[in-house]
Amino acid sequence: MTEKRNPFATMTRCGAKTRGGKPCQRIGNKRNGRCKLHGGRAGAPSGQRNGAWRHGGRAKEAKAQRKAIRALLREATQLLRRDK
Ligand SMILES: [Zn+2]
Repeated sequence: MTEKRNPFATMTRCGAKTRGGKPCQRIGNKRNGRCKLHGGRAGAPSGQRNGAWRHGGRAKEAKAQRKAIRALLREATQLLRRDK
């Protein structure tokens, strides 16, 4: 006998408080857990899918890279000053 499973049982549920005071319980999305009625459709896509994308200079990766380089430079400068 095959076991019947509810495919919706494991999906994220929207926990927004309804006017009745209870959690919404509609199926939420993966990004923020909210359903389409409670903020699940809000927000623009990130990265290259965003319409304001131009060159990627302010992308998460580029910012992280600059931060790492600044830290490395700071460290090198301190090291050079200490050895004088
Ligand atoms: Zn909801």
